[in-house]
Amino acid sequence: MKCSSASPTPPPLPSPPPLPSTAKTLQTAITAVSNFLLNARSTLILSGAGISVASGLPDYRGPRGTYTLNKDYKPIFYGDFVHKDGMRRRYWARSFLGWRGVEKVVPNKTHAAVGRLWEGGWVGGVITQNVDSLHTTSHPTMPITNLHGLLSTTTCLTCRTPLPRPLFQQHLHSLNPTWSTFLSQIRSSPDIPIKRRPDGDIDVPDVQYETFRYPPCQICLTNPTFNGMIKVDSDGAIRPIEGDANVPGIIKPTLVFFGENLQDEVKREAEDKVDAADSVLVIGSSLATYSAWRLVKRAKDQRKKVGIVNLGGVRGEDAFWDDGEGKAAARYRLGDGTDGVRVEFDAGDVLEGALEILERIDGNRANRKATLEGEGATRQEIELREVEIATAR
Ligand SMILES: [Zn+2]
Repeated sequence: MKCSSASPTPPPLPSPPPLPSTAKTLQTAITAVSNFLLNARSTLILSGAGISVASGLPDYRGPRGTYTLNKDYKPIFYGDFVHKDGMRRRYWARSFLGWRGVEKVVPNKTHAAVGRLWEGGWVGGVITQNVDSLHTTSHPTMPITNLHGLLSTTTCLTCRTPLPRPLFQQHLHSLNPTWSTFLSQIRSSPDIPIKRRPDGDIDVPDVQYETFRYPPCQICLTNPTFNGMIKVDSDGAIRPIEGDANVPGIIKPTLVFFGENLQDEVKREAEDKVDAADSVLVIGSSLATYSAWRLVKRAKDQRKKVGIVNLGGVRGEDAFWDDGEGKAAARYRLGDGTDGVRVEFDAGDVLEGALEILERIDGNRANRKATLEGEGATRQEIELREVEIATAR
C-alpha cells in the first residue's frame, strides 16, 4: 500500500452540507459533536494537518480548501530520496533550514482538548497523520499512532538504527559551515522570502542545494560488510554520487514520504485502533492520503459511526453518509449527531465546547471505567456498561 495518491496536491474539494442539517452554527455543531461522543463507548480520533495550523505550522490547504502554498511546490518522493544523491542534498538543505521552525512549535488548544477527551474516557485512541509530535508534547502519556512517522527522529535505511533529528542537525551544522551562517542570516533577516511546509521543509530562492553535505550512518560506515561502498570526504560527508546508485548507510527522517509504504506494524496498530473503537472522529484532515482515508472507510465498512470536523471538503466523504442512493441518509441529516456528524468549524473551538458539555453530563466516565477495571471487569463488561448508560441517558 502506498501512502499517497499519484498527485500529492489534488484540487480542493467543495464544502459539504452540515450533518445533522441543524449543525450550521458553532453552538449547534458543538451540541452535535457532544452527542456523537457521549453516545459512543469509545471514540477513535484521527487528526490531520489542520489542527497544527494554530501552532504556526502550515496546512497543505488553507481553510475552505484554498491553497496557501506555492503551486510550484513539489514534495520529495521516496524513490527520489533513496536513489538520487542530488535530491537528498536538496532535501537535507531545505530541512536543515526549516528545522528550527519545527523545533520551536508548541501544541495548541486542539491538542489540549484531544488529551482531555482521552483523560476523561470519551476518546479511547488517537491516530495522527501529523509528523510534528505535538499530541505527545501536549499529553506525553497518551498513546499515539503516528501514521506518517515523525520528524523528530531519523533512521538508517540499511541497518535501521534510529538517530534523534537534533543530533543529526548538529552533524549537518558542522559539515555545512556556510549554510550554518546563511541560516543565522535568514533568521535575522525577515526580508529573505521563505516558505515553510508542514513537513519542516523550507523553500528559499537562489541557493545551490548541491553544495550541501550530509553524513552517512556511522554504524554502516564502519561495518566491514560495506567496505569501500560508502565514500566519504575528509570531514566524513558522503561524496557526490553520480547517477541512481544505491549506497548503504543513507539516513532518512522517519516520516513517511510520498510514494513510501507505511511500516507494517504502524499499519496494523492503526487498524487495531479502528477495530477497537465504535466510532471514528476525524479532525482537521481532508483525508487526502489514502492511508488515512482507508482507515475511516474500514470503520464505515464495520458499520461504525463516523464524525468529521474539518474546514473544507474531505476526500470521498459522501461514501461515509450514503443512504444507498448517493445522498446522506435521513438519520444523519435529521438526527442529533449521535449516529454521525459532519461540521465545518475549527476543531479546537468545537472540541473545547464539547468538553464543557461532556464534563458536565458525563464527567465521571473515566473514574467509572477505572473502578470497573479495579474490580476485575473485562474490557467487554466495561464496554457493555457504557452502552447501557448511554442508552438509558
Ligand atoms: Zn546504518
